[in-house]
Amino acid sequence: MPLPKAELHLHIEGTLEPELAFELAARNSVPLPYADEDALREAYRFADLQSFLNLYYELMAVLRTERDFEDLAEAYLARAAAQGVRHAEIFFDPQAHLARGVEMGTVVEGLWRALGRSRERHGVSTRLIMCFLRDESAESALATLDAAKPYLDRITGVGLDSAEVGHPPAKFREVYEAAAALGLRRVAHAGEEGPPEYVTEALDVLGVERVDHGLRSVEDPALVERLVRDRVPLTLCPLSNVRLRTVDTLADHPLPAMLDAGLMCTVNSDDPAYFGGYAGDNFDAVRRDLGLTEERLRELARNSFLASFLEDDEELRARYLAEVAAYTFPAA
Ligand SMILES: [Zn+2]
Repeated sequence: MPLPKAELHLHIEGTLEPELAFELAARNSVPLPYADEDALREAYRFADLQSFLNLYYELMAVLRTERDFEDLAEAYLARAAAQGVRHAEIFFDPQAHLARGVEMGTVVEGLWRALGRSRERHGVSTRLIMCFLRDESAESALATLDAAKPYLDRITGVGLDSAEVGHPPAKFREVYEAAAALGLRRVAHAGEEGPPEYVTEALDVLGVERVDHGLRSVEDPALVERLVRDRVPLTLCPLSNVRLRTVDTLADHPLPAMLDAGLMCTVNSDDPAYFGGYAGDNFDAVRRDLGLTEERLRELARNSFLASFLEDDEELRARYLAEVAAYTFPAA
């Protein structure tokens, strides 16, 4: 049995495996410029961020109907459950779908078909977090929040993702204020490629409760001190960092030093179909390449539940934390 954990940094569009991409392409008569699944899998070995994003948006074309989004989420939940994920807070990018003529309702209700039965079917509780694309305008983000208003009973919070550099958090002050007024929780990607100042800005201007990635926070000792003092969770994605060359190799990842500094780190998969592994694969990789002890792994699992948005079900959080505390690691 794998270590129980929560996944807090997961883009549902980034869970599209080549097999499902081909299945959905056939179902919807969307042509894909790849001969077969193997050729597509080869394309998943992209060289840099831009080639990743190009492929990521190209493949989204196969997602058309509620059933497509349901199948996408269902496939993720099954894989995540098999790797010990007990709770998943799932990002989705509505602007990427709205731009293709796919309505907000199709996306949210489609995802919800799988999420709504996930505890029963997979033993995985879920929350949905709507992300704004930071390379789109602030006006577009506001219009997206507006389009989501009929579905707010399905949406726990808002996030901010896509190309970071040149798009500082403050650009989205207004939409985050509006989201807060609607009672939505707030997170944002910051300090992945962008500087530590973006992390500070996400905290001060957007009022985020968790920072997605936040890796470059380590460059600013005062910021680290603040994150430690305020117990601000960071959702790290080690395999993603290697694939996007944020770190050279996994052995160079600052995770052990960040834990030693007292930062509240969690380990997540980001876009697992593209970055070489799901949540459990990330845990296995940091255990192997960074030599993390069982107690460190247990701390990461505990952090993931403490950092999750389970304030509306503290009993469930307590149950998950008890599972983590009672977990026995298999002999290595
Ligand atoms: Zn991400």
